[in-house]
Amino acid sequence: MKIGVACSPGLAIEKAYILEEPDITIDYGCIPTERVSEELKRLERAFDQSKEQLNAIYEKTLLAVGEEDAEIIQAHLMILGDPIFYDEVKDAVQSELLTAEHAIQKKVEEQVAVFEMIDDPYIRERAADVRDVGNRLLLNVLGIEIKDISNLKENAIVVGRDITPSLMATIDRDHVKGILAEVGGATAHTAILARNLEIPAILGASGVLSLVRDGQTLIIDGSRGEIEIDPEKETIDAVGKKIEKARMIRKELGLIKDLESKARDGHSIELVANIGLPVDTEKALEYGAEGVGLFRTEFLYMDRNCAPDEEEQFVSYKKVLEAMNGKPVIIRTMDVGGDKEIPYFSLPKEENPFLGYRAIRICLEDKELFKTQLRAILRASAFGNALIMFPMIASVDEVIKAKEVIAEAKEELRQRNLEFDEAIKVGIMVEIPSAAVTADLFADEIDFFSIGTNDLTQYTLAVDRGNTKVSSIYTSFHPALLRLFKNVIESSKRNGKFTGMCGELAGNPLAALLLLGLGFDELSMSPSSILKVKKIVTSVDMAYAEKVASHAMSLSKAEEIEAYLKAELSGLGLDYILEL
Ligand code: PEP
Ligand code: MG
Repeated sequence: MKIGVACSPGLAIEKAYILEEPDITIDYGCIPTERVSEELKRLERAFDQSKEQLNAIYEKTLLAVGEEDAEIIQAHLMILGDPIFYDEVKDAVQSELLTAEHAIQKKVEEQVAVFEMIDDPYIRERAADVRDVGNRLLLNVLGIEIKDISNLKENAIVVGRDITPSLMATIDRDHVKGILAEVGGATAHTAILARNLEIPAILGASGVLSLVRDGQTLIIDGSRGEIEIDPEKETIDAVGKKIEKARMIRKELGLIKDLESKARDGHSIELVANIGLPVDTEKALEYGAEGVGLFRTEFLYMDRNCAPDEEEQFVSYKKVLEAMNGKPVIIRTMDVGGDKEIPYFSLPKEENPFLGYRAIRICLEDKELFKTQLRAILRASAFGNALIMFPMIASVDEVIKAKEVIAEAKEELRQRNLEFDEAIKVGIMVEIPSAAVTADLFADEIDFFSIGTNDLTQYTLAVDRGNTKVSSIYTSFHPALLRLFKNVIESSKRNGKFTGMCGELAGNPLAALLLLGLGFDELSMSPSSILKVKKIVTSVDMAYAEKVASHAMSLSKAEEIEAYLKAELSGLGLDYILEL
């Protein structure tokens, strides 16, 4: 049954693990004095249990994503371990004769109210932490199992209403075999993370929570957006065989890992990786990435209480550059806003966040925040091949202003006698139609272009990339997009610049012939897509790809273009790659 948007390819058969809002019922009655000691025992057990759980999550987060991300869990442990808080809850049971759960709820709410009254956004944020800890205590005292996808006991397909990017960042990579969520679309960051982690995912599956029960066997097809609930044994066997076959093909693709990404006639195209955290370089190298075409640095700012300082960022960038060992690493400056919220930035709620205060717009206003990041990138540039890329550029003057901040950052480092790459290359993401249309006007200011198809598609077609209702008309194969790509490439080539693509289209095997034929110098994608695209690129001649691109450009509908590209791949006997 087609249920939602195909967001991360692959099949999975596992039991459903429903991530639901728990039903918390509090007993508000007054307890008799003889029940006090029993309630105190419940309380103590809940605190111990919560501590144990948080310690386990802390260890796991530390190993999976590192110290910075684990700090948030450390903060939760500190709230839980606060003796004054514990005494106050105990006292509410003893002197006010409240049930353990009522006492927890009351004291947590009191603390939350105090934090929420304070103006400082950092302190206000602490309210959310206290509430989180309080929730954990309540669930434990009531004996309700806590749903948590960072530490599952067995393999599962996680089913929920909204699986946020930050939940995905701490996901249990060993046990989560599939993601099924009611909200989201193919270019939501949850989808991007799922593809990076190679976890099949379907988002935008509205109503799925009313169809699937916890523990039911599920098949999800992340390439088609289809699910099957409680499948027959024959189906389970057949799908199991397909999963095995896909595993074998992937293994075979592994053999071309070290093959140069060149068309048969020798025309080369760099196939590089999109990463979000330093740990992602491992996957990038595993799949033979020739560099990093997009380091989404905003992930370093997520799941914490304040922005990382220069030193912390420097360490992260240096780690990536050293891991990539001289290969180019395009570090995109912070792209916060849109669907990437950072609570401690206290950004105003906006009617149209994707059209609002985000990315370079924030950076040009908060110059210190921006300069801190630029100093960190520049310092790291002494340890590898770093390039700087600005997101969400609409006009040339933004680039000029951003470059002025780079110049200031460089001067400050000179004053501090710190080394950096004086000739560091600077480029822009082309993800706003105005930049795509006027690409020629940018050429004097920059060294390279990289087309961000995720945003460029939503802005060109006026389709919110995360809105399920309109996801069927969100397509980067639209002729308008193809024409914009062509314009950027032509302007870039005419001016001797380098042109890449780092949106999701770059890693879509269906687009590989088209993008090769259009003349891109570089395609940057989820590491797991690299070998699939490489297989296609290395199987054809450039002249053939150019012919394909030229024919695709002559078609007037996205569906025709997709069908044509699929037919070409099938003619080459390569359409099986689309199923992986
Ligand atoms: C894009 O918009 O295509 C892009 C690569 O950036 P992000 O997905 O992080 O917005
Ligand atoms: Mg973007």
